[in-house]
Amino acid sequence: MNLLLLGPPGAGKGTQAKRLVAEYGWPQVSTGDMLREARAAGTPLGKQAASYMDAGELVPASVVIGVAKERLMGSDVAGGYVLDGFPRNREQAEALDEFLTERAESLDLVVNIRVDPDVIVKRILGRRACAAPDCGGDFNVYFNPPAAEEICDDCGGGLVRRSDDNEETILNRLDVYRRETEPLIEHYRPSGKVVDIDGAAEPDEVYGAIKAEIEKRRG
Ligand code: AMP
Repeated sequence: MNLLLLGPPGAGKGTQAKRLVAEYGWPQVSTGDMLREARAAGTPLGKQAASYMDAGELVPASVVIGVAKERLMGSDVAGGYVLDGFPRNREQAEALDEFLTERAESLDLVVNIRVDPDVIVKRILGRRACAAPDCGGDFNVYFNPPAAEEICDDCGGGLVRRSDDNEETILNRLDVYRRETEPLIEHYRPSGKVVDIDGAAEPDEVYGAIKAEIEKRRG
C-alpha cells in the first residue's frame, strides 16, 4: 500500500511511520529525514537546504521534488511506502500526482493526523532523538522520557534536539503548515482516500486507528 501521512509538525507522523515500517515493512519516505542526512553529510543538497530548514521555511520545490521522486523510484519501495512530510504544498502534490499517474500508481490511503497547536508546541519542544547513527531512538521529555536524562534507552547514546525544534522556528513551521500544507487535505479529499485521525490521543491509540483503516482497505 502507498500511504501518505498528513498533519502539522509534531503531529506524530514520524512516530507512526516508524511503527508502520516495523509492522508492514513499507519504507518510510521522509523528505525531512533525507534533508537532515544530506546536511549531516555536508552534501551540496544539504547546504542548499540548511538555511530554509533553520528558518522553518519550505525548501524550494525544485530541490525537494527531485529528491522525493528519486527515492520513490528505488526498488525497495515497489511494494508500498509511507510518505511523511512530502508533499508539503500544491506544487509538490501536483508533481506527485503526475509522477504516480505516469507509473499507473496511486495513493491508497491519506491519513490526516489532527492535533491542536498548543499540544504541538509542547511536543516539539520536548522531542529528543538519539545522536548515534542508525539507532533511531526517539523520546519526548514530557510524554515519553528516557530512563536517564538525555541518554538513549536503546543504545546508551546521547540525545539531541533537532536544530529546528526551537520556539521561534516552530511558530513559523506551524504558519507554513497552515498556509501551504493544510489545503492539501482538500486536494486529496475528493479521491475518497482521506481519513481523519485524532492525533491528540496516545501514540498506541493513534496507531490502532491508522491500522484499522489499513486493514479495512486490505480486506
Ligand atoms: P520535517 O522533518 O518533515 O518536519 O522537515 C523539516 C524541515 O525540512 C522542514 O521545516 C522544511 O524546511 C524541510 N522539508 C522537509 N520536507 C519538505 C518538503 N516536502 N518540502 C519542502 N521542505 C521540506
